[in-house]
Amino acid sequence: METGTLNAIKIQKSPKSRISEVDFDHLGFGREFTDHMLVARYTNGTWETPEILPYGQISIYPASSVLHYGQAIFEGMKAHRLQNGGLALFRPDKNFARFNMSAKRMSMPEVPEHVFMEGLKELIKLDANWAPDKEGCSLYIRPVLFGNDSFIGVRTSESYVFFIILCPVGSYYAEPVSVLAMEQYSRAEVGGVGHAKTAGNYAKTLLPVEEAKKKGFKDAMWLGGEGHKYIQEIGTMNVFFVMDGKLYTPEIDGTFLEGVTRESVIQIARDLGHEVVEKKLSIDEVIDFAKKGLLQEAFGTGTAATVHHISRIGYQDFDFSLQPEKHFIGNKIKEELEAIKTNSIPDRHGWLVKI
Ligand SMILES: *Cc1c(COP(=O)(O)O)cnc(C)c1O
Repeated sequence: METGTLNAIKIQKSPKSRISEVDFDHLGFGREFTDHMLVARYTNGTWETPEILPYGQISIYPASSVLHYGQAIFEGMKAHRLQNGGLALFRPDKNFARFNMSAKRMSMPEVPEHVFMEGLKELIKLDANWAPDKEGCSLYIRPVLFGNDSFIGVRTSESYVFFIILCPVGSYYAEPVSVLAMEQYSRAEVGGVGHAKTAGNYAKTLLPVEEAKKKGFKDAMWLGGEGHKYIQEIGTMNVFFVMDGKLYTPEIDGTFLEGVTRESVIQIARDLGHEVVEKKLSIDEVIDFAKKGLLQEAFGTGTAATVHHISRIGYQDFDFSLQPEKHFIGNKIKEELEAIKTNSIPDRHGWLVKI
């Protein structure tokens, strides 16, 4: 993949690495950043030469359009250490495609492949020693694009900043999660931007999640559609239910993120011989299965958390506890997904891109 464009990335190395200051035994999620970042600016209809710089502040004016109107998108992906050494990205083509889909929906310029992919690979090569080698740990990758016009007026921006930062991460959160289905609030509706990874989709969920916490739940389950009854996601994850032996997940309708993990979990479940049903799924239907004793497992899926078991589901006066220690199907899928990501079993679908 050595191309001419690759040489075009300007590299300014950090004079001193901060790696020795980091406690790799207690990483947590999203607090530590590697020595470098990639920055590429877009002005006058063209992308300037991407630069790799020491990780640090990016200065913007108070009038910067992103601060006022939220023209911002991001991605979340991971690089894993492989069983036999080396590093690999998991399905980065999917994240790249989704990033540009989000850009398009938010009226932003697409980021060219050489800026995104070659920039990312160069950045990771430079900071490869930051990729943790402990089980369950990885290098989390956060690409961001934001509108940066110094102009107070609602319009499509003319200048943009694209950057990528890297975080060595432990596991996202270990405990199974309790979720409260939100009657009053919605995260996204048909025709909106629920399928785009855009900043405002997250700010608007903070208050509802705080309210769910006050009621004793850890996160929110998002409902929408006719009668505000149809399940979309939980927190920032796609959601699966094992009911009467089959996996159920909401069908794609533009109101939620089409997760790379969601798609991979569907594939792995089918590989393992499970039936997967993608349908419009109402909270009432899940409650009916639960009341009949047929709601066996529930879990969320996403890059950060991979497969995250659900321990409890609340909705109005329905309050149902699951038994995550008996989530055999979810656990098997999680193990299989992790094993593929670290290449400890064959990469049968060609999902890994080695760096
Ligand atoms: C990123 C994200 C997901 C998960 O997508 P993956 O590609 O599996 O990481 C699900 N829901 C929301 C709201 C997200 O932002």
